[in-house]
Amino acid sequence: MENFSFRDFRQQFPILTEQVNGQALIYFDNAATTQKPQCVIDSYQDYYQRCNANVHRASHALSTMATMDYEKARSSVKNFINANTEQEVIWTKGSTESINLVAQSWGRSSLKAGDEIVLSYCAHHANIVPWQLVAEQTGAKIKLLALNENGVIATEQLEQVIGERTKIVCVAHISNVIGKINPVADIIRVAKRFQALTLIDGAQAIAHIPVDVTALGCDFYVFSAHKMYGPTGVGVLYGKQELLDKMPPYQGGGEMIKSVSFDHTTFNTLPHKFEAGTPNIAGIIAFGAAIDFLNQQPCRALLDYENRLRDYCFTQLVTVPGLAFIVEAAPDIPVFSFTLAEHHNHDVAAALDSVGVAIRAGHHCAMPLMSYLQLDGCLRLSLSAYNSFAEVDYAVTALQRISQEKL
Ligand code: PLP
Repeated sequence: MENFSFRDFRQQFPILTEQVNGQALIYFDNAATTQKPQCVIDSYQDYYQRCNANVHRASHALSTMATMDYEKARSSVKNFINANTEQEVIWTKGSTESINLVAQSWGRSSLKAGDEIVLSYCAHHANIVPWQLVAEQTGAKIKLLALNENGVIATEQLEQVIGERTKIVCVAHISNVIGKINPVADIIRVAKRFQALTLIDGAQAIAHIPVDVTALGCDFYVFSAHKMYGPTGVGVLYGKQELLDKMPPYQGGGEMIKSVSFDHTTFNTLPHKFEAGTPNIAGIIAFGAAIDFLNQQPCRALLDYENRLRDYCFTQLVTVPGLAFIVEAAPDIPVFSFTLAEHHNHDVAAALDSVGVAIRAGHHCAMPLMSYLQLDGCLRLSLSAYNSFAEVDYAVTALQRISQEKL
């Protein structure tokens, strides 16, 4: 296995040398968004300095350059997730927009009263609300997959929930709060038996485990660039070509058409049919740089480092008096959700912030999961491969102190 140099990796993230509240920044909110390496920042700026032009629209040199870089990013994404063709990679604003696109395009045109949409209790709001909206529009019903004691979607009940009426099953590959890998292969297998489609929300998985959409066999897979070292405002909808081909457009406008007249408009081919208007060109090109950056890392060694850091962090957090994980099982990715006895979540997060440590407090866009676990909210500490063991020690020592204080 190639070596992973933590020092070299970390050095590429300029923000990590910043100070916060007079202390060196310790950024432990990576599940919300990761920091960006210099090459991504440079790529963003380079587009505006060197080749700012609209894509696909002009025959001049700048536009050609911009279009080439923009489409190269699409090829990089296609290879990164092992999609079959570039036509299966649709640019969106993020995971949220990708799910809304499927709900409004496929869902609104295919669902009818009595059909069932299957979701799970560990879903992010982005994989709940778009389905509630389309359920209201079509008369379809939402059914829910429960979790086992480890916070993972329970496989035993799949066939009780997924059935003849199920038209789509939409689940998180990894919950943004629990951090455990859901049994998506089993879920996809059962859904296929009933000819139901599957949408996998990979917003958290994509930065931490290899994703191969062809091997998975899902119909749709969504993720956001900003959680994998890329810029905000860029996301991906992967969809099987034969499905995307049949789906009506999501939004209308320039780029998504072949011809327009007041009598009849015809739509563009994939992927452009779903990409109305001027896209986030700088962001998409910079996302391509983020994928190149990831491809240059020794993937197995980087994940090995991340896993060792995860295990260490878990054993250290256990030592904090009054700290209770929201599920007992250790997470599969370095996302830890917990409460601290007799302390409000926001007070703990503010106390950590005052010593430079950024973590998140609240419901983490998973209110139904909070109710399911009978919690008002929790704290979430999430790591990336640029975090160090020493940072974990510093934060755990701070948590130990806070646990003894009355805030
Ligand atoms: N799904 C999961 C599991 C997430 O963690 C998030 C973001 O936190 C989203 C969806 C929504 O992602 P975005 O806000 O980038 O659209």
